[in-house]
Amino acid sequence: MKTWIPDSRSFAYLTWKQVDALPRESTLLVLPTAAVEQHGHHLPLATDTLINNLLLGKALEIIPADLPIYALPPVCYGKSNEHIGFPGTLSVTAQTFLAVVHDLGASIAASGFKKLVLFNTHGGNTSLVDVLARDLRAEFGLRTFTLFGSGGVPFEGISPQERTYGFHAGEIETAYLLHATPELVHPEAYTTNYIARIDHPEPLKPEGSSANFAWLTRDIAPSGVMGDPTPATAANGERWTNESAARIAELLIAMYNFVPRHGA
Ligand SMILES: [Zn+2]
Repeated sequence: MKTWIPDSRSFAYLTWKQVDALPRESTLLVLPTAAVEQHGHHLPLATDTLINNLLLGKALEIIPADLPIYALPPVCYGKSNEHIGFPGTLSVTAQTFLAVVHDLGASIAASGFKKLVLFNTHGGNTSLVDVLARDLRAEFGLRTFTLFGSGGVPFEGISPQERTYGFHAGEIETAYLLHATPELVHPEAYTTNYIARIDHPEPLKPEGSSANFAWLTRDIAPSGVMGDPTPATAANGERWTNESAARIAELLIAMYNFVPRHGA
């Protein structure tokens, strides 16, 4: 897999003696979690993994070199059963995903490290990552943090419809890859599909509401796209990459410095 992680920030490039020399209390390890799954007719299966690596790599580039913050090799396979039925989707069950990340947490704790970030860029993993963060804290005493997607940048210029229902292979993901791996994007094959419209309020939503329906992509999006990739530009992709990286760097530094505040 193509990588933007600087060699000096790649945990797996160290020897065990170099790992042994790291400050155990303060070193912050970042575990990327993503997916290998269909992304419409125009984006590669690895889209979520590439975006994760791109944003984390660019963030690590701008973090001061003396802070011991390292990227672990990614968990590329995620819970992607919403995309089953599309050739190429490689999904693991919730149980498998929970078990793998749990076991990595056990190994990290056994190596004496105290701080772990779960950096997730695939929506299907989100609720599992939340469960894992609490469980790793409770079971191994790891100070565990979660970090999602772009770290909360505003994506200026996105339409309200795309902002709300551009779930998958839409403008943002397409723009990131038009910037980072244009050779892997197929603009001639763009398709547009929205799973719901903001101007047609309906009582049940696909996500994020107080009453939702469980969806499978094949039921609602024949091309696999949920969103509109057509307005995506490489220029926006570059701007959003830089903004996301800056935000992620800031959040990683906050995690590195984090001391829990007790009630006053
Ligand atoms: Zn994606």
